[in-house]
Amino acid sequence: MSEPSLHADLVVVGSGASGLTAAFTAATLGLDVVVVEKEPHLGGTSAWSGGWMWIPRNPLAQEAGIDEPLEAPLDYLRHELGPQFDEAMARRFLEQGPRMIAFLRDEAKMTFVDGNKIPDFHDKTPGAGLGGRSLCAAPFDGRRLGARLKDVREPLPEISPFGMGIASGLDLKNFFDAFLKPKAFWHVTKRVVRHWLDVLIHGRGMHLVNGNALVAQLLTALDARGVKVLLQCPVVSLIQSEGRITGVKTAQGVITSRCGVVLAAGGFPHDLARKSALFPHAPTGHEHHSAAPLTNTGDGLRLGEEVGGHVRTDLAHAGAWAPVSLVPNDKGPAGRFPHLVERAKPGLIMVLRNGLRFANEADAYHDLMQALFKAMPEGEAPEAFMICDHRFQRRYGLGRARPRPFPLAPWLNNGYLKRGQTIAELAQACGIDALALVQTVSEYNHHAAQGRDPAFHRGESAYNRIQGEADHSPNPCVAPLLEAPFYAVKIVAGSLGTFAGLKTNQDAQVLSEAGEPISGLYAVGNDMASMMGGHYPAGGITLGPGMTFGFVAVHHASGVPLANNR
Ligand SMILES: Cc1cc2nc3c(=O)[nH]c(=O)nc-3n(C[C@H](O)[C@H](O)[C@H](O)COP(=O)(O)OP(=O)(O)OC[C@H]3O[C@@H](n4cnc5c(N)ncnc54)[C@H](O)[C@@H]3O)c2cc1C
Repeated sequence: MSEPSLHADLVVVGSGASGLTAAFTAATLGLDVVVVEKEPHLGGTSAWSGGWMWIPRNPLAQEAGIDEPLEAPLDYLRHELGPQFDEAMARRFLEQGPRMIAFLRDEAKMTFVDGNKIPDFHDKTPGAGLGGRSLCAAPFDGRRLGARLKDVREPLPEISPFGMGIASGLDLKNFFDAFLKPKAFWHVTKRVVRHWLDVLIHGRGMHLVNGNALVAQLLTALDARGVKVLLQCPVVSLIQSEGRITGVKTAQGVITSRCGVVLAAGGFPHDLARKSALFPHAPTGHEHHSAAPLTNTGDGLRLGEEVGGHVRTDLAHAGAWAPVSLVPNDKGPAGRFPHLVERAKPGLIMVLRNGLRFANEADAYHDLMQALFKAMPEGEAPEAFMICDHRFQRRYGLGRARPRPFPLAPWLNNGYLKRGQTIAELAQACGIDALALVQTVSEYNHHAAQGRDPAFHRGESAYNRIQGEADHSPNPCVAPLLEAPFYAVKIVAGSLGTFAGLKTNQDAQVLSEAGEPISGLYAVGNDMASMMGGHYPAGGITLGPGMTFGFVAVHHASGVPLANNR
């Protein structure tokens, strides 16, 4: 062991947004806290994420006059979660979420942008919100972190051209419109020039957005409080003494902790054994390709189980499903491109190998993948194809094959992108039933010419429309596929993270199977069984609760009552 033993009030295992929020809360409440991170870089999946947090009744919404009673989002959760609805957990989250954000604004000086126009995923469910229930970390100037920025995980390379993060909303729209509107072209030119200057001077982009900005803002706040963060320091076991968790053993030494340990190690997206046990579509575990970092291997769940914690297996879904394509990579394992954006744009459909569509492609990723699982013949690994025409590909890109001016040749040459001069030729290139695909596209095009999709209702929900193309009418999600050549990318089963996790109570205390709290042990983020019960009612439902229960756990551990906090 290269470091002597450390003594602290609290140890936080993992440096994603949930762990860093817990650590900042602890430091602000006067605890001596240590964050231990397995990787050389901080931030985990959170640093790759969109950075959106679902926090109904958050301060930014309230300041904009969106004032709804707690019962409205509670009602939405009750209907969405069905048998998995846990009112005590839901109330705790809805009460403390806005407080956690106000705390981060006041104490950590963090800044956010509002999601006041972003609807929940299912606008027909009672209690659904049409905006004001989410927020995102505001862009952050990395120069404020100085040399420390090198410790923050860089944005997910698959979705960040030249390492440049692009923020959802107007920033992204400008990139799509760059060759159509002079104002958008100017925006993109400024962004790209600044990025390359930053790379030249600082070795990486300094305009941080999305989850990268969230992690960088949290780290800035932790540094201001002098919190110790140990990198490349995996926790290998918990120390239990007289029934209480009193510290951790790490690869660098022992850390004892007076108030306990918070597990925030990011769930099990790359734990083969647990994937095989809990993902019905992945009998060996290898059939599932999460977009989360490969090093999130389920350590937190294992650590919890070793001291008597119980991993819940009764959730509606054990993972936060998302369509992913595998990006060939000469230097290592294939990259995983999460298809979160282009699916809802007008002029794209998805089909199975039999050439048939199976769902509304513009729906939320978790819903789309459930439809794919249902549509797959028994025993076959889930796969589908995204199909578009030349106009669409050059405007929006298709997965890792980016829009103009990026060349397509590398992606055609390595087999990631398939191309055909006709729909039948494309079908042959992909191994899809050609007759059926020609028929599918022709039927889709027939209705799409009028902006309609009677088969799957693309563009009929508020969530579809916000994800579609604002400038395209009459339906922002529907256009025919007309302009040759045609392109396809294969989709496999993937996720943004996992939902199954350690069973906890509403203070985030880890519970035994019998429901007894394990004294001094807390689980937050994706190490905690999702309070959404395996459902995905809105964007931001992992980071929002993850950070909220980080805030809640530390109040319990420190003995500072939540209600008295502010
Ligand atoms: C492309 C993408 C976009 C997404 N967008 C959103 C979004 O906008 N909103 C949203 O809510 N969710 C989003 N998600 C999901 C979200 O990012 C994750 O659910 C969330 O970040 C999990 O946070 P966490 O704190 O639990 O874990 P993580 O952020 O993954 O952090 C866990 C950390 O623990 C460390 N660790 C693991 N084992 C050990 C160990 N033994 N010892 C010490 N450290 C350890 C890991 O290295 C990692 O740094 C997105 C995911 C992806 C991939």
